[in-house]
Amino acid sequence: MRNADVIVIGGGIVGCSAAMFLAESGLSVNLLERGEVSGEASGLNAGSIGGYGWGHSPRLQEHLTMGSLAIFRDMQLEKGVDIEFRQSGSLTAIHTSDQHGYAQEMVSTLRTEGRQIEILSPNEAKSYEPKLNKELIGYMFASQRGQADPVKATKAFSEVAKRNRADVFTSAPVTGLEQSGQGWIVRANDRVFNSDALLIATGAWTSDIGKMIGLNIPVQPVRGQMWATESLPPGVFHTISSMESATYWHRKPFVSEDSPPELTHDNDLRVTRHLYGRQRANGEVIFGGDRQLLGFNHEVEFAGIEVNKTHAGEVLPFLNHLPVKRTWSGLMPFSPDGLPIIGRVEQYDNLFLATGLGSSGFGRGPGSGMLIADLIVRGEGHPALQESDPSRLIDETRN
Ligand SMILES: Cc1cc2nc3c(=O)[nH]c(=O)nc-3n(C[C@H](O)[C@H](O)[C@H](O)COP(=O)(O)OP(=O)(O)OC[C@H]3O[C@@H](n4cnc5c(N)ncnc54)[C@H](O)[C@@H]3O)c2cc1C
Repeated sequence: MRNADVIVIGGGIVGCSAAMFLAESGLSVNLLERGEVSGEASGLNAGSIGGYGWGHSPRLQEHLTMGSLAIFRDMQLEKGVDIEFRQSGSLTAIHTSDQHGYAQEMVSTLRTEGRQIEILSPNEAKSYEPKLNKELIGYMFASQRGQADPVKATKAFSEVAKRNRADVFTSAPVTGLEQSGQGWIVRANDRVFNSDALLIATGAWTSDIGKMIGLNIPVQPVRGQMWATESLPPGVFHTISSMESATYWHRKPFVSEDSPPELTHDNDLRVTRHLYGRQRANGEVIFGGDRQLLGFNHEVEFAGIEVNKTHAGEVLPFLNHLPVKRTWSGLMPFSPDGLPIIGRVEQYDNLFLATGLGSSGFGRGPGSGMLIADLIVRGEGHPALQESDPSRLIDETRN
């Protein structure tokens, strides 16, 4: 039996960053990952990092976005681990007057709150990003946003955790959990671990872990898929997205009564097109966008890739002439209300949860890891965590 102050289950960006902060604060940590560190969503995503600035009165979203940005920057510039972080800013294409109306509304609200965002004319935007389509109506520019390499970043957190004497076990699928006194016994195949505190950071698979201890944790897997061009000379400098889905979801956030918010499909029927992408340091231009509820099926569907590529070509016309070189997909952890689930689980002693980060959990992962580690270390949560309290969603399934 291996002892530690804290066991973290899940080697995605949330689990690895939490492990790093726990280990840096002097606690002993065992992290258990079923496959490889960064093997799931945290290593498969587009690498866009959100944020519009802290604003006048920061809430949970700002702690997660701007807090994470600071942690990514610190990893690259202070800790000196190359995660390909750049605070590149983002440009969001506005295709129609309807989208322009919503973009103006959004920018005006965010600026009143003290955040940094503006609308640029196509020519202004092209002076920042020369390959943009000048025939569109305009672009929203958010200077704070950034990007990093998902695999390098997630691995960096686990490596720094290890430097601080955390133990990271890969190929260690958790198969059983049991409360023992106020602590925990965790089984990963034939290995047994125990700890004072247990942190579940298992992304789209969290509902399965909940079942092991009679809890209904309603996290659903949502498939996201992506494609890449061949490696090209540097030519896309910001993260790029489109207002089409934001405008649609503003009016109609849910596709059905029992779906999580902000999906691109109602079953097989597309309701909107979503777009995000960037150019990687290796030269590949990568884009994705679809968000579909398909259980744990994450096979790539090429029809969706083609729709996404057409959308990307409307924003960056040079992409129309390039073939898709490779595709991939992954599962995002969506909560029913679209908000993160980060905090203490009241049904058990010393049980903590950090998940439900949906489509933006790479950019918000390190902030989530920091806040949950802070709660475990101090025993008291940052006030912003009231918004992500697990008790709003979790109930018991045992009799
Ligand atoms: C295609 C795609 C594009 C995306 N683009 C972006 C983007 O540009 N920006 C952004 O911010 N976010 C993006 N996201 C979302 C982001 O990737 C996720 O929200 C985030 O990675 C979730 O991190 P996590 O640590 O919670 O989960 P994961 O990365 O899924 O990690 C959970 C880990 O738990 C492990 N696990 C599960 N069950 C067990 C078990 N029983 N025992 C041990 N280990 C277990 C899994 O193997 C996995 O490694 C995208 C996602 C996808 C799929």
